[in-house]
Amino acid sequence: MKVIAGNWKMNGTRNGLKDMVAALQNVETENKVILCVPFTMLGVDGGKVSLGSQDVSTHDHGAYTGEVSAQMISDTGAKYVIVGHSERRQYHNETNDIVRQKVEAALSAGLTPIVCVGETMDEKQAGKTMEIIESGVRESIPNNIDKDIIVAYEPRWAIGAGLTPTTEEIAEAHKLIADTLTSMGLAGTPVLYGASVKGSNAAEIMSIPNVDGVLVGGASLKPDDFIPIITSVK
Ligand code: PEP
Repeated sequence: MKVIAGNWKMNGTRNGLKDMVAALQNVETENKVILCVPFTMLGVDGGKVSLGSQDVSTHDHGAYTGEVSAQMISDTGAKYVIVGHSERRQYHNETNDIVRQKVEAALSAGLTPIVCVGETMDEKQAGKTMEIIESGVRESIPNNIDKDIIVAYEPRWAIGAGLTPTTEEIAEAHKLIADTLTSMGLAGTPVLYGASVKGSNAAEIMSIPNVDGVLVGGASLKPDDFIPIITSVK
């Protein structure tokens, strides 16, 4: 069983989500399918699909205009939240420290965070990929947690760019993440790969050791693109 998570970013409508859910109802799969959608679409009946948000406040409640708390997300029936996506890190200056606070908030409300880590092109070219990934995992995930989390390795330079790292690069990154999680007492945590996943490369990527599923941006928006990814692996 793999985890296939979609990230709709700032796209879609409630009716569009209903159409996607309807299209996915008859898809035969043992994989876990998650759609992380804008806050305004939460509360739609996901059927076989679990819904999640794409961000969460570090705060529980109070005078934080525009923020949405983990409890509020949970109140819609959503089960997941993407935390530390590269676009949040890039456009909203989210650091590993802020991401960790969001992970804590999510866990305390019973949500499963999908924690994103990955290197920029500058970091890659400076030979810092492994360092950024390891510090991303160690600093973004709280110590001593006893609840489920998911980690996503998303090379930031490859997101939405139609680029993917080599099989060896993905394997090396995922092994490092799996080993780091094991050293943190989190062995067995699913680690997803994300960036430019599509129907034509999903099966190959998910056959790489320590790749437990995928986080999909652009190709999760339409059933014709998303379903082949879901059915590419058993
Ligand atoms: C993402 O935004 O998480 C992502 C993986 O995007 P894309 O699949 O479009 O590269």
